[in-house]
Amino acid sequence: MLLRHTPKEISERKALAINPAKTCQPIGAMYAALGIHGCLPHSHGSQGCCAYYRSTLTRHYKEPISASTSSFTEGASVFGGQANLMQALNNIFTVYDPEVVAVHTTCLSETIGEDLPQIRKKAMIEGKIPEGKYVLTASTPSYAGSHVTGFSTMVKSMAMAAEPTGKKNGKVNLIPGWVEPADMEELKRITGLLGVKTIMFPDTSGVLNGPLSGEYRMFPEGGVTMAELLSTGDSIGTLALGEWCSAAAAR
Ligand code: SF4
Repeated sequence: MLLRHTPKEISERKALAINPAKTCQPIGAMYAALGIHGCLPHSHGSQGCCAYYRSTLTRHYKEPISASTSSFTEGASVFGGQANLMQALNNIFTVYDPEVVAVHTTCLSETIGEDLPQIRKKAMIEGKIPEGKYVLTASTPSYAGSHVTGFSTMVKSMAMAAEPTGKKNGKVNLIPGWVEPADMEELKRITGLLGVKTIMFPDTSGVLNGPLSGEYRMFPEGGVTMAELLSTGDSIGTLALGEWCSAAAAR
């Protein structure tokens, strides 16, 4: 029997089959984390996952992407990766000295039920996180959502870091959604012209669209600072662009 499809059905099938712009959650979490000044993204999972995000972002932005991993092996997959993450945090702060480490999970660590907030608490109690340094966490299982969900979840984690003092800072929080570094630069230019003081997070401008200086800097000059993120609780309002930012803005 000859099956015939209407032009509408054919176009719907093509739209489904051709190169869907959807990839795994941690890529979005890593992109968002790179928008914090002095942040080292950390992938709590196997090395292969981390290598995939790093190479994908490096190819796209033509910038060297630094990131660390909990390097799960068979042992961590069975008995849990807490020891790996504790060791990783110790090594990262000792060797690379970032301001903040933004940890996201992967399919594997989510499947075995890793509890990042609990591990962070333990790391704080055991002194693995030095005074004045921060660890953000985001749950990003890749069998749900997409890179955009991962981005949004990491942005929510940034919003959760706010420490309100009760004294307003006269600024507006600006959550740009997943846009390119050049778009973030343009948003800052427009708000500057309007005379509105903003704290934009994340801010990958100056991080992933930097000039060719010939010099490698592990932590480029751009990005929202941790001090700014802490003060977002004192802002006079929040403007979130794009529906996927609503979770962060709702905080
Ligand atoms: S295993 Fe999951 S988290 Fe890792 S690269 Fe694949 S989809 Fe992404």
